[in-house]
Amino acid sequence: MNIRIGNGYDIHKLGTGRRLIIGGVDIPHELGLIGHSDADVLTHAIMDAMLGALSLGDIGHYFPPTDPKWAGADSLKLLVQVHQLVRSHNFAISNIDSVVVAERPKLKPHIKAMRDRLSEVLELEPNQIGIKATTNEKLGPVGREEGIAAYAVALLVS
Ligand code: MG
Repeated sequence: MNIRIGNGYDIHKLGTGRRLIIGGVDIPHELGLIGHSDADVLTHAIMDAMLGALSLGDIGHYFPPTDPKWAGADSLKLLVQVHQLVRSHNFAISNIDSVVVAERPKLKPHIKAMRDRLSEVLELEPNQIGIKATTNEKLGPVGREEGIAAYAVALLVS
């Protein structure tokens, strides 16, 4: 069995007039994440982890923010494309683990929905996807609620 591991990181700024979409779930909040796509920071970190595991570059290479085609894109659709790329290399996801770092809002009530949504899109069992949420203890830009960050690792097997 061939086993590959990858890690991914992403951060997006918070601002007004934007939806807050994390892990494919629309979370009620007065601020949303700013980005060229829907700025789903968790999904982006997961995609980079999957690409990194196979040394296939990063999401900026496949979905450049300069390309109007990806403006407002649903990141779950991009995730499906990355998954297809992984499958085309004859690899499958064993598991994914992740952390979302946000001072507010409280993400815990939304984690099950994120896990369900991501596992559905990736055709995995929910227990193959770990999602944790933590604050940054009010430290740095994330602590000042200027943005939300996410970290992910993906284990791929063939
Ligand atoms: Mg991003």
